[in-house]
Amino acid sequence: MTAPHPSSSDTLAEYGESALIAAITERFSETQPLEVGIGDDGAVFRQAQPIIAVADAMIEGVHFDRRWSPADSVGRKLVAVNVSDIAAMGGMPTYALFTASLPRDLPWTWVLGLLDGVAAEAARHGMTVCGGDVTGSPGPVSLSLSVLGRLVAERPLLRRNARVGESVYVTGSLGGSGLGLTALQTGVPRAELVLSAIAAHRTPMPRLQEGAALAHWSGVGACMDLSDGLAQDAVRLAAASGVRLELDLDLLPPHPGLDLLSAERAVHLMLYGGEDYELLFTGVGLPPCPATRIGEVVAGAGIGWRWGGTSTERREEGGFSHF
Ligand SMILES: [Mg+2]
Repeated sequence: MTAPHPSSSDTLAEYGESALIAAITERFSETQPLEVGIGDDGAVFRQAQPIIAVADAMIEGVHFDRRWSPADSVGRKLVAVNVSDIAAMGGMPTYALFTASLPRDLPWTWVLGLLDGVAAEAARHGMTVCGGDVTGSPGPVSLSLSVLGRLVAERPLLRRNARVGESVYVTGSLGGSGLGLTALQTGVPRAELVLSAIAAHRTPMPRLQEGAALAHWSGVGACMDLSDGLAQDAVRLAAASGVRLELDLDLLPPHPGLDLLSAERAVHLMLYGGEDYELLFTGVGLPPCPATRIGEVVAGAGIGWRWGGTSTERREEGGFSHF
């Protein structure tokens, strides 16, 4: 029996669970060795080394909006934000479990797009989706991924290892995702720089190579990835290490699209926009990957900000908070 070609009006309910499971099985390839894969009650694989485990969920209306995020970009982002946590630990992703709760009236083409996005991003990182679960949802689309990874060096990168006297660095640029989201919500003109910000929001690029280089660097202190905005995440790193971070707003690397905004608005997006998925790290000496020095580790607690050479008050709250 050949499956009918999906039209945009067909829903998940019309296709049903076995078509959904078949669509999943044919998309998720085994790039990592598996003794038992999708199809049994659980997957089986062997590991002799330490394992990193992370999980991240994405809920429609909280993390994405179907009006402006295409299905495949939602799937890609679900994988990318998990891989970013693996990168921040100094690891490489290996296996993943994918769980989706989907409303019955979800367009079948949207379901296939989502699976294509998850499969493509997983394959790009050499990761095998080896199982999971699919259920109906009485409300929004609800997605979760659990990812396992291996350490690339002897020890993981941790938030708690910042020491007084180290410099503070960030990879890439800040504020792009926040600008992209603002552009999608307000429909501002799509200049080329804005399009790159929208891409940064829809499909972040986890810093796997940078995390691996940092894990091998003898000068490294602490490391974490930036998901909720520098202002909030830097406070977490400082607290985990029992130190204070003195950061300079003039040194922050802006996404090029922020040139379109006032300085105050640009700084706001760099601090509170969130979802940049860059690595924030501390260390002594020359970092082994491209990064911008944004401040230093000193004795004390919390964060101090400088702007134009003088201290400035910044709310430490204001990044994304779920509750
Ligand atoms: Mg994280």
